[in-house]
Amino acid sequence: MLRRLAKCPSCRHNGEFEYTGAQHWPPEMARKLKLPDTTYLWTCSDCGTTLSDQELLPYQDERRMEAAIEITVQS
Ligand SMILES: [Zn+2]
Repeated sequence: MLRRLAKCPSCRHNGEFEYTGAQHWPPEMARKLKLPDTTYLWTCSDCGTTLSDQELLPYQDERRMEAAIEITVQS
């Protein structure tokens, strides 16, 4: 099972998304809508919403953020 890390725009879940499938557009339509020919779809493991690559928010590395806070406190 293919998975990726991202943030859900619907429930704010920050973590794993399961690969659901790919949506293929006819090349003419894709050009007209300025979309890639293939859109990959992912399902949120928390709320079950299916989202495309374009809709997913970038995954936020919380550990890295904590580290940044620690550095700020120490200095
Ligand atoms: Zn979600």
